[in-house]
Amino acid sequence: MAAALAEVGWQVRPILGRAAPPGEVAAAAADVDLVLIATPDAAVADVAAAVEPTATAAVAHLAGALGLDAVAPHPRTAALHPLVALPDAAVGARRLLAGCWFAVAGDRIVRQVVADLGGRSFEVADGDRAAYHAAAVVASNHLVALLGQAERIGAQAGVGLAALLDLVRATVDNVEELGLAAALTGPAARGDEATIERHLGAIAPAEHPAYRALADEARRLAGRAVTVPVNRPVTEGTIGGLCARLHKARSGGHRVGLVPTMGFLHAGHRSLIERARSENDLVVVSIFVNPLQFNPGEDFDDYPRDLDHDLALCAQAGADIVFAPDQHEMYPEPVTTTVRLRTLADVLCGASRPGHFDGVATVVAKLFSIVGECSAYFGEKDFQQLAIVSRMAKDLSLPVRVVGCPTVREPDGLALSSRNAYLSSDERAQARVLRRALEAGAALVEAGEPDGAVVEARMAAVISDAPLARIDYAAAVSPTTLTRSRQPLQGDVRLLVAVRFGKARLIDNLGCRAG
Ligand code: AMP
Repeated sequence: MAAALAEVGWQVRPILGRAAPPGEVAAAAADVDLVLIATPDAAVADVAAAVEPTATAAVAHLAGALGLDAVAPHPRTAALHPLVALPDAAVGARRLLAGCWFAVAGDRIVRQVVADLGGRSFEVADGDRAAYHAAAVVASNHLVALLGQAERIGAQAGVGLAALLDLVRATVDNVEELGLAAALTGPAARGDEATIERHLGAIAPAEHPAYRALADEARRLAGRAVTVPVNRPVTEGTIGGLCARLHKARSGGHRVGLVPTMGFLHAGHRSLIERARSENDLVVVSIFVNPLQFNPGEDFDDYPRDLDHDLALCAQAGADIVFAPDQHEMYPEPVTTTVRLRTLADVLCGASRPGHFDGVATVVAKLFSIVGECSAYFGEKDFQQLAIVSRMAKDLSLPVRVVGCPTVREPDGLALSSRNAYLSSDERAQARVLRRALEAGAALVEAGEPDGAVVEARMAAVISDAPLARIDYAAAVSPTTLTRSRQPLQGDVRLLVAVRFGKARLIDNLGCRAG
């Protein structure tokens, strides 16, 4: 953006980097017409806050999914999102200068920017931002993901990406010339279900969900009923029933993926199920709110539950079996044998929830024992849990490959969690301090701060900016031992925070490397 604006005659001040202190942002904004914030979404509000509210400059962000409120409370706020993929600066400047489309909102100056770049613009109101951004992601990122699938399947038949790309270009031209429905060709448009079945037989099971979903989209465009049944998972309530199904699958050589959850599923769980889907032939999602991991006075009775919604999400994400036992099925008698952790469990969340991780390890050991040889998918969001479960599988030689998956977040950086449902709107607005604190801590570590205590104090200070937050811990630890690193901080460092907002106890974490 800076290069493109300079090219068309704007005076562009030097770009302020990640490490710029807030004072420098304020100084830079003092005598300019426009401050453009080009940070990750989660940092936009902080950078905007560093500009004096009295500054006369317009303050605009370049984020697709955020509204004007992200740069409030400045008198002149704006948003300017180039609807173009900008993989690096040189390509970016070229594309911006080629007259691309921009989504604009707020102060008029961003329309001037678009006019000077020779671009075209359309207005997107705050309430439509997420849908707008979703459309852009589908048109760009999902297209790339789809081409990844075309490349993989093509490679199976010795067809290279270059040949397929020519097909893509011609198809896009057809869409422009003829419109979507008329440009559609292929078996789903013709209603040729036999060919679709032959395709499915020829390609790897991991390719099926995407192929099926897009065949459905093609049918929809062609005005045909969606005839192929979506993958409806079987709900299984008993251990015996689940074992019988797994036995049958394994004797057919199928790889099994397991996603243990407590239900009230959201996009974070969904990402685990989709990962399991892409790596296995049979995917089991377990839904069980495990009483052993709740202490007296915790939210076991109130933990949110919605099995119908969970089943729909499991179906969309491609699960085959939803294992949803009741308490009596899992614990028919008072439990005598439990897993007891010797290390890892009495620090961080274990310090404020004594016995919690023994309860988690016990139910996970039971699930691993019921499901048997499998890959099991856990979120990095619960980093301590992931570390403990990985270690338990090793220590007890369980035939399970434990796979950690990245944390899925809201646009403002809040990690998705079933417990976010407890937050009031004020608490929800302030809950983004968790991510801000982690980023502030990571910036210190990466800038070379050697003292873990200083990093922890910085994270705690950011959290205490939120009046409704009650901090449980803010820690900088070794990612393997979960203990505070010896000074100076070295190598990989994991930053973790736990914060209470009203009845919700939220956790989050971030990895970084000592600089
Ligand atoms: P829960 O239902 O809270 O026990 O979570 C079940 C699994 O989903 C655990 O492995 C969590 O770490 C994972 N999970 C929860 N929230 C997220 C998220 N926001 N992103 C990725 N994984 C998550």
